[in-house]
Amino acid sequence: NSKRMERLYSPRGILQISERHGIRVNKSLGQNFLADGNLVDKIIEGSGIGAEDLVLEVGPGLGALTRRAAARAAMVAAVEIDRHLQPVLAETLGDLPNVRIFWEDILKADLEEIFRQMEAEHGRAFGGLKVLGNLPYYITTPVIMRFLEELISWERPRALPVESLTFMMQKEVADRIRANPGSKAYGALSVAVQYRCGVEQLAAVPKEVFVPRPQVDSAVLRLLVHAEAPVRPKSEETFFAVVRAGFGQRRKTLHNALAGLYGMGKEETKNALTAAGIAPERRAETLSLAEFAALADCVEQYKVQDQQ
Ligand code: SAM
Repeated sequence: NSKRMERLYSPRGILQISERHGIRVNKSLGQNFLADGNLVDKIIEGSGIGAEDLVLEVGPGLGALTRRAAARAAMVAAVEIDRHLQPVLAETLGDLPNVRIFWEDILKADLEEIFRQMEAEHGRAFGGLKVLGNLPYYITTPVIMRFLEELISWERPRALPVESLTFMMQKEVADRIRANPGSKAYGALSVAVQYRCGVEQLAAVPKEVFVPRPQVDSAVLRLLVHAEAPVRPKSEETFFAVVRAGFGQRRKTLHNALAGLYGMGKEETKNALTAAGIAPERRAETLSLAEFAALADCVEQYKVQDQQ
C-alpha cells in the first residue's frame, strides 16, 4: 500500500483519488491539498517527531502528512471536520495501526480528552507531543490562538504538554507572527506566539504546490514552545486580555484602548500604565513582551476589584 500511496503526493494522484470517491473539494473548509512530497517531508522533519511521540494533526485532508507522520511517531491523532473524507482516509490510512481520526471541529474538540484517550491506548506516557498541520486558511489565527492561549499553559497542570507546533499557513499570517515591535505587522498574534514560543520559518511556499491552488503564497513555521516563560506575568489570563484590548483598537493610545477592560476608566488605565513605566500616549504596537507583562501586573488589581 505504501508504494501505491505515493500518488497522494502529486496533483494527478490527488485528483484521481478524490474523483474515485466522489469527493468535491470544499473550498469553504479551506481544502487546499498539499501535492508536494518534499514539502510534506519538510513539515514532518521540521516537527522533530521521535519514535515515542504522539502527533496531533490539524485537518488531515486526504492523509498526506498523516501517513508520513505515522511512519515516525508512536501514534497520530488527526482531527478532521469533513466526514465526506471518511472513505478516502479509510483507503489512504487504513493500513496504519497507529492512526486515529477524530471527526470534529479543531476549534471545539476536547483535545485534552483526546490526548488522555491516546495515552490510555498507548499504555504509557508519550515521549512528547508534537502538533502539526497544513492549516485551513479561514481559521489559521483562531487555531493558533486556541493552542497558545487555552491549551498550552505554564499555570495549569492538566494543560497539553505540546513541545512544538509546525504549521503551513498563509504567508501574511506567518509574517505577522514573526513581526517585531514597531512594525506594521506586529499585533496580538505576534505577542501571543512570541510569549509562548520561539519562531522559525522552515520554508516559503508558492501557491502552485496546492490542489486546488489558493489565492496567496504560504510559509511553514515551526513554533518551539519555551520550556519556561520568557516573561512572567502574575496571570496569563490577564496578560492575554491586556494584549487583546491593547490591539483591539490599535490606532488608539493605550490609555484609551484599555479603557473598559475590567471596568477601568481612563484615569485608571493612565495610572496602571504609569505604574508599569509606560507612557500613556504610547500605542500597543510599540510595546515589548516585557512591557505587556509589566502592564498586565499593574492591571491585575482592577481585575480583582471588577470580579468582587
Ligand atoms: N493535511 C492535508 C494536506 O496537507 O493536503 C489537508 C490540508 S487542508 C489546507 C485543511 C484541512 O483541514 C482540510 O482537510 C479541511 O477539511 C480541514 N478542516 C477545515 N476546517 C476544520 C476544522 N474546523 N476542524 C478540523 N479540520 C478542519
